[in-house]
Amino acid sequence: MDYSCDECYNMRQPHTTTCPSCGKETYVGQVIGLTAVWECTNCGEGVAGASFHPACWNDMTASIIISRPTDSRKMVDLARILNMNTIDLLYAFKNSGDPIEVSSKLRECIRRYRCISAIGIPCELGSDAKGFERALDCPYTEG
Ligand SMILES: [Zn+2]
Ligand SMILES: [Zn+2]
Repeated sequence: MDYSCDECYNMRQPHTTTCPSCGKETYVGQVIGLTAVWECTNCGEGVAGASFHPACWNDMTASIIISRPTDSRKMVDLARILNMNTIDLLYAFKNSGDPIEVSSKLRECIRRYRCISAIGIPCELGSDAKGFERALDCPYTEG
């Protein structure tokens, strides 16, 4: 596969709509690199250059949902991943219940999600982060 981000991959698939020039359903759009390119296969009408910003570039806030670790060693590891101190994290589980939802920038969410999953703590991406699991590997996330 030559892509690594679901969202970007979808944007890079050719999609067809009505040509503004000849009116036929032959106007094909596709994102190539960082450029949206449109060309009509019927009349040759075309445009290129609309800059494409993949969703994985956005500064959007997303969340992950984390279950309370069963042992204190993992609680310490979790606190480190979340840049919190362990006391604050314990309070979060006490006050907000189990699991807790933690918000951050999208890419930070994905990074944390991977780290937390890797140490065996049950964790899932919030609905706003779903579909971006591969954003960290995406060649476009350097924006
Ligand atoms: Zn992407
Ligand atoms: Zn046309």
